[in-house]
Amino acid sequence: MTKRAATYDDALTALFARPATAAEGPLRVGAPEALLAALSHIRATSGRDALGVELNLWIRELTRIDRVAAGVPAYHWSDDGAWVGSEGERSDASFPAIYCRHCGRSGWGIQLAAVGDDLAAQDTRIRGNHMAKEGRFRALLHAPGEGARNTDSPREDTVAGLRWLSVKRSTLLANPPAEDDPDLLAGLLLPVLTHTGQDADQYSKADTCPSCQQADGVRFLGSAVATLLSVTLSVMFGNPALDPAKRSRSSSPTPCKTPPTGPVSSKHGHTP
Ligand SMILES: [Zn+2]
Repeated sequence: MTKRAATYDDALTALFARPATAAEGPLRVGAPEALLAALSHIRATSGRDALGVELNLWIRELTRIDRVAAGVPAYHWSDDGAWVGSEGERSDASFPAIYCRHCGRSGWGIQLAAVGDDLAAQDTRIRGNHMAKEGRFRALLHAPGEGARNTDSPREDTVAGLRWLSVKRSTLLANPPAEDDPDLLAGLLLPVLTHTGQDADQYSKADTCPSCQQADGVRFLGSAVATLLSVTLSVMFGNPALDPAKRSRSSSPTPCKTPPTGPVSSKHGHTP
């Protein structure tokens, strides 16, 4: 269909001579998979005289994931790529996505300026600086529940470690905003849990979770290729639509040489 590897959308465009009508659009999305399934079936029944079908799976390492500073989770690659998640509530600010491996809560990894509660002006090296134990790294866990409780009874710091990340002013505020604060209503004031006080630097460097308080818990969001590949292969070859005979053969150490009889890959990653 195309001479080089192409995205699924580009492959669809190459496959059809004219643009799709509204009714044809959804049908066309499944066309390449149906075509591959038909060719695979012919190959499986006719053997090597038939056209061979080779399926390549492309996996990109899930690293350098940034999370948009907004109430609804949205992510993007810090170096390139498209937005994933919410399209509606989007601000320009985004920071490395973090989570706690003990309690599972998630949020943003930020760096504070040398003194005070303002965010550092330069935030392109947050991961590197944290790894090198340089700078004032802070884990900010999104805390909408604690934030709502605190806004209902606005007394300063009634929840330990609760701060408000002001996206517009790039700072952490200790006082809860008024319920009708325009920034709060616009989603530009985010309730977060973080470490405060004199030991905050020490706890932050030790990756102690601001919520469950367990050490060595905060991690940057992501997965290495080996993990992703393992999960993907398990999903593909565990697919109930796959012929049981081929499923058992494909679980042997030697990769299955006969193409699967059905479309088992994700929609992204075909090399037509
Ligand atoms: Zn935790």
